[in-house]
Parts: sequence; C-alpha cells; structure tokens
Amino acid sequence: MNYKKLLIAMTLCTASLSMNASTDDFKYTDEKFADIQMLRYKVTDFEKLTLRQKILVYYLSEAALYGRDILFDQNGAYNLRIRKMLETVYCEYKGNRNTDDFQAMTTYLKRVWFSNGIHHHYGCEKFVPGFSQEFFRNALKSVSRKNLPLQSGQTVDKLCDEIFPIIFDPTIMPMRVNLKAGDDLIKTSAANYYGTDISQQEVEAFYADMRQKGDPEHPVMYGLNSQLVKKDGQLQERVWSTTGMYGAALSKIVSQLQKALPYAESEAQASVIRRLIDYYISGNLKDFDQYCIEWVKNTDDLIDFTNGFTEVYGDPLGMKGSWEGFANFKNLETTARTEKLSQNAQWFEDNSPVAPQFKKKECKGISAKVITATILAGDLYPSTAIGINLPNSNWIRKEYGSKSVTIGNLTDAYNKAAHGNGFEEEFIADENVRSLIQNYGDICDDLHTDLHECLGHGSGKMLPGISDDSLRAYGSTIEEARADLFALYYLADAKLLEMGLTPSKDAYKSEYYSYMLNGLLTQLVRIKPGNNIEEAHMRNRALIARWAYEKGKEKNVVELYQQNGKTYLRINDYEALRQLFGRLLAEVQRVKSEGDYKAAHDLVEGYGVKVDPVLHAEMIARYNQLNIAPYKGFINPVYTAVTDRNGHITDVKIDYKESYEHQMLRYSKEYAPLPFIN
Ligand code: ZN
Repeated sequence: MNYKKLLIAMTLCTASLSMNASTDDFKYTDEKFADIQMLRYKVTDFEKLTLRQKILVYYLSEAALYGRDILFDQNGAYNLRIRKMLETVYCEYKGNRNTDDFQAMTTYLKRVWFSNGIHHHYGCEKFVPGFSQEFFRNALKSVSRKNLPLQSGQTVDKLCDEIFPIIFDPTIMPMRVNLKAGDDLIKTSAANYYGTDISQQEVEAFYADMRQKGDPEHPVMYGLNSQLVKKDGQLQERVWSTTGMYGAALSKIVSQLQKALPYAESEAQASVIRRLIDYYISGNLKDFDQYCIEWVKNTDDLIDFTNGFTEVYGDPLGMKGSWEGFANFKNLETTARTEKLSQNAQWFEDNSPVAPQFKKKECKGISAKVITATILAGDLYPSTAIGINLPNSNWIRKEYGSKSVTIGNLTDAYNKAAHGNGFEEEFIADENVRSLIQNYGDICDDLHTDLHECLGHGSGKMLPGISDDSLRAYGSTIEEARADLFALYYLADAKLLEMGLTPSKDAYKSEYYSYMLNGLLTQLVRIKPGNNIEEAHMRNRALIARWAYEKGKEKNVVELYQQNGKTYLRINDYEALRQLFGRLLAEVQRVKSEGDYKAAHDLVEGYGVKVDPVLHAEMIARYNQLNIAPYKGFINPVYTAVTDRNGHITDVKIDYKESYEHQMLRYSKEYAPLPFIN
C-alpha cells in the first residue's frame, strides 16, 4: 500500500561520480542553507515539444502548483499561518537585517519553505528556531497588520500568544510523524490528518469498521482523501473535494485541468484528466479508483502527470494521502532500457529465490519508463523522489498493473552536482573500489532504480485472505526492502549482461559496495545524534545491510575494519553477498505474503532502527569536514506562456533563473487559494 518513493540515489549519488560531469555549463547547484543544498534540474528537449504539447505541460504545471498550500496544511494545522508571519516579516522588516536574529529567522523560513511546514522534511522533528521570541514579536508588531494571518478581532499579541508555543516550545508537536512503537501514534504526531482529540485506537476501529462494510474484492483506499475529526462525540471524515475541505485549492486545480483538456494527446489521456476532475468534484474514492485505472492504462502518450492525494508516508498509520503533483514527458532513449526489463518481467519472477507459492503466476502490466520532469509540486517539491511507482491500490495493481517511472533529469542533476565533492576519497579507502564506482556507479545506480521500480514492487503476491496492511507500521519498510532486495539480487545476474543492460560482469559490484557502505555507515550522517532511524527507506537500507553483514560474518563476507582511527568497509566475497540478498529476499517476501507481523517487527526493530552512537559520531565528524549538505531539493524552472493579442498561447518559454526565495514568495502569492485555517 505505501511504498514507492525511491530516495536511494539521494544518498547513493554522493557516492557515485558522474562520468560525464560538466559537459555543459548548466548550473546544477544553487544556494545552501542549514542541511540543505538547492539544485536545479534541466528540462532537456522541452524546446523540441510541439506547441500543443508545451501548452499541455504548461497547464498541467499550473494545476500542480495550486496544490502547494494543501500540503502545508496537511503537515500541520499552524503551518500556513506561521509561513505567512515569517514571510511578512521577511519582506517588510525595516530594522537591521544583519543581526543574528534576523539571519536565523531567514534560515528558519527557508527551512519551512523547504519542508512545507515546521518539521524536518525527512527526520520529521520540529525545527529549533535560532531567533528569539522577543525579536519575532517586535518584528511582527512592526509590519502591516493586513499582511498578518489575524483572525477577526485578533491583536498581534494574541496571535503571538497563540502561535509562539507551536514554534518555540520543544514539547509541543515535537514530531510530524511519530512511529515509535508503544506510543499512541495519532496523538503524538503533529500532522493534521486527525483531530487532536482522537486516539489511535479510535482511528483503527473507525477504519476497520469501514473496511468491513466495504467491497472486499475492490477495496478503495479508505481514509485516503479526508481528515478524520470528532464532532459531537462522533467520528467523521472531512472529505477533500472542490466543495469540501481544501475546496478552494482543488477548484483551482480543476480549472487548470479543464484548460489542459483540449490539448490532451489522445482520447485516452483526455479521459484520465476528466476522471481526475470527476474525483476532485465528488471526493468519492471509487471515482479515484476509476481515475487510477484510466491513468495506468494510458502509457502511449509522451506527456504524463500525477496530481492528487497520493503517498501515505505523512500519516503514521499509512492511510492519509499527502498532496503531490508533477508533470513530465517520456525520455525515449532511456525508456528502451526499462521496457526491456518490463518485457522480461515474467522471467525475473520465475527465477527469483522466492518460494513458489509467493510468486505471481502471471506478471502483467508492469510498464516503466524514464521521464523528464517539467515541474515538481506538493510533496515532491523541493525535496523529491527520483522513481515513482503508482497507483498504490493493491487490487488495481493486481488487475491492471502499475506504472513505474524513473525521473532521469533529476538523477542526472544529483550526479552532476555530486561531482568531486570529496565523499569517495573520505569513505572509500580502496582505490580499486573507487575506480569501479567511477566507471559503473551511475549506470548501476540507474539500473538499481529501474529494477526496484519496474520489477521489485510489482513482484510477488499476497496469500489469499491476507490484508495489505497487516504489517502496519512496518509495512513501508518491508515493502521497500522487498523492492531493493529484488534489485540487488538481479543486478549481479548474467541475464542483465545478456540483455545488454550492464557493461561488464563486475559492474554490479559498484552498487553492492555503495549500498553496503550507505546502509552500514554513511547514511548515519543524515540522523541527528541520539536519534534512531525513523524513515522507511533508511530503515530498509539499514535492515538489508546489517542483516547481510551479520549473516555473512562467519565467512567474513563483508568486513568493517579500522585504519588510522577510521572505520572502512571491505567486501570480500561479492557472490556470497548476492546469495545473502537472495536469502533475505525470500524471507521478506514470505513476511509480506503471509502478513507475518511478528517477523516484520523483529526484522525492522532488530536491524533497521538502532544506531551505534560511537560509529554515528565518527560518521558525522568525517562527513561534516567535507561540508556537503545531506539533503537536496530542487528549484523549479519558470514557464511563461507567450500569447497573441487574442489571448491564444503562441509559445511557452522556459527559464532557470529564478532564485529560491523569489520562487517561494511568488508561489505563496500566486498559488495560495486556501484560508490560513482549514
Ligand atoms: Zn520503492
């Protein structure tokens, strides 16, 4: 149910140098603040699209941008007000802008923009403001009242009294998503998907009941598009639709989709857009399923998009969809690669080390392509996925397949930006391994993504009667592990060489090394001292790497050793490591297929969560001296419609010059249809 944002290259790419870096003068890196490096992506070949296609991209991009504030509000009920307060001070403040307070507030605002709220986009913990309450209160009093999110009759002081604890008190809303076993996950998570007076038990009972009353053959994704609140003691859903919650934003999106309609490339694509409009208007999840079916079937057109309540990582119970949108077009050259994999899906399924009863008899409908993103929005902006596999509904995936994409121009931008940052020299002692990674790192990293998305997520089957969410909070991690293991296992297979997808029989070793290095050591730099691993993809990588390390210990398959007081990794037996990946794949598939909650719990808690404080401190110290930002995100290009005097669009221009803060302030002004309180 909840999988598919493949973030692996965000970490791995720092470990893989691009072979053809800086062959053009496009500026891939932009400003840096806190733990963030801003990047830009290039929309290669946008100019080669026909006018009709450009106009379609333009309206789909507009539709994507109008959802931004929905995500801010989903991430926390106070986010839109806090953002407005910060922006108004940032724009209007007449005092000294060089003080520590003002500078710290600027950084805080940039982080709020980046995270679409006041919690870290990845670690989920609340930001610690580096400016004083006194400064901020005085600053707010010095700006124009009309640009502050005041409720009727509210004074600036009252606004401060209401909002400041949310910003400054570390005990209030400390985590956006809390997954700590034993806690009431609903009450301890700050995300705005549930009323503050509702317990986890109540939520689980509410949806268990709904599920039971629903269609067992074709269950909708219960709870996906609503906030659950208590009214007069009764639980009820506030549905997100053009006439419901977030209606003002969804209406704007619908009007842009309507403008896009006449430019659809085919009747099938027009039908996708119409279904989405129907769903946004009705808020009915049955309509959403119809849209998903049309969408997954539509694979022939060049341009594609997603727009809606999609991924469920923001909800501790994995039901509520955070809003995201993007538009893209197919990269024909690289798509040939993923199509080859898809055409051979059955071969991969048949030959995997998974037990026969958990295999799909018939692998169908797995389509995959490499795409060029044209706009990123909502939960894909500025931090983004580089691979996406949708829809999430399991019965639709089973009956109609899924669409899997690798976002080529984003991967490319990561690689180009990572060129020569010193990471490899620091963490990889063996020169041969470094040159292996230089030669094959990019290509195998891409291949890993393709295998993970096109084949991994689509492989395997559930035993009859096993519910998709029986692994509960461990479901996402297990699912990502399944897809990663499938990819890792096959990366080393002679079949890939035979298919012409890898350049040499040893190429896979670059990815094995990078993966183990990341899972055992370097991904720790993304975690704050004292914290555990929380995020599903990181847990998955730790789980796989540590499990393989431990199980191979007796035969010394993978080794951690000390040199000059630093910890390094050595892989002594790549073939044996592959067999370990295969063994774990078989087990993880069993856990998923049987819904074995206990085993999932033991795997994730046993291998994927805990952090060795000494090793952690060493990694952070070594990483910090490289001065690389651990998180990256993208500034969007700007599309401008050129019109004739009748208002007809005659061209769409693209440019990459807009600064981060200009873009954020412009979006807050031009794409902000929602009230501050929803
Ligand atoms: Zn995935």
